[in-house]
Amino acid sequence: MNTSTELVRLDAVTRIYRTSEVETAALDGIDLEINAGEFVAIMGPSGCGKSTLLNIIGMLDSPSAGEYIFAGETISNKNETELARVRKQNIGFIFQDFHLIEELSVRENIELALLYHDVSATERKMRAEQVMAEVGIAHRANHRPTQLSGGQQQRVAVARALVSKPRMILADEPTGNLDSVHGEEIMRLLKRLNDEGATIVMVTHSPTHADHAKRTVNLLDGQIVAQDLRNVI
Ligand code: ADP
Ligand code: MG
Repeated sequence: MNTSTELVRLDAVTRIYRTSEVETAALDGIDLEINAGEFVAIMGPSGCGKSTLLNIIGMLDSPSAGEYIFAGETISNKNETELARVRKQNIGFIFQDFHLIEELSVRENIELALLYHDVSATERKMRAEQVMAEVGIAHRANHRPTQLSGGQQQRVAVARALVSKPRMILADEPTGNLDSVHGEEIMRLLKRLNDEGATIVMVTHSPTHADHAKRTVNLLDGQIVAQDLRNVI
């Protein structure tokens, strides 16, 4: 019996970057389905289109051609305002270089992610406390990002991605700037979030980290060249 629910569906998605001299097909006819609750690792050499794919899935970028359907809703024809709404309600991002605001404390960085949500100040505070405890950073709540190690900064970034309770977490090389111990820590955190029900799509160079995923998708020159299912029951 198949009870899985499709969350992401890309049909023949292409993304072309045009400059005055060259045209680059960063994505070239991508067909991809991701079900709710999956943990997918996207792999492939530098420049093959991994970030472009993740940005399109995360609605930070739009396909040049093809269809994107998210939770049954066609995304490819939405305007910026509508995209921002769907993104805000459903998606949390984690980047390789953390993207934290240096002028703000850990707590403020996390609360900021809820600012344009329909959430009261009291609840913002409560939820920030909750996710800080969850990722083990509560004891650094009043520190600035620059006062933390890379591993701690990435835990803050994970907390910030989590605080809006997104259905899907997108991570672009989240362990790329971390040593192996801290990288492994972030992977365990993502794995736990996935066990708790979050859908995770992660770009990684590391085969070891990709082992945490239930499926790997291999890209080459903007195309999916291989897919590998793991731990399939
Ligand atoms: P990856 O994340 O796998 O390293 P990217 O998705 O960043 O690859 O890039 C895919 C291709 O698209 C590369 O050839 C890159 O040079 C090109 N590209 C990415 N972003 C832009 C951009 N903003 N303008 C022009 N070309 C771009
Ligand atoms: Mg990239």
